[in-house]
Amino acid sequence: MRSGNTDGERVVADRLVTWHRPVDAARAGRVCSQAGCDTRLSIYNSTERCAAHHQFVTIIQRSTGQRLA
Ligand SMILES: [Zn+2]
Repeated sequence: MRSGNTDGERVVADRLVTWHRPVDAARAGRVCSQAGCDTRLSIYNSTERCAAHHQFVTIIQRSTGQRLA
């Protein structure tokens, strides 16, 4: 069985988690709202879709005036 070093590594990991602010964690956990897309959204992205889908929807709406099914 292991001992000694394992406990030391665990303490370091706990400190890293503590440093992670709750607000950032919640925003970082968002994913693209487009069906079938699980792209993680940047905490700086204020939209509900990833960059690729946000741009795609904007183009469709501009050219047809209709929403995606
Ligand atoms: Zn997407």
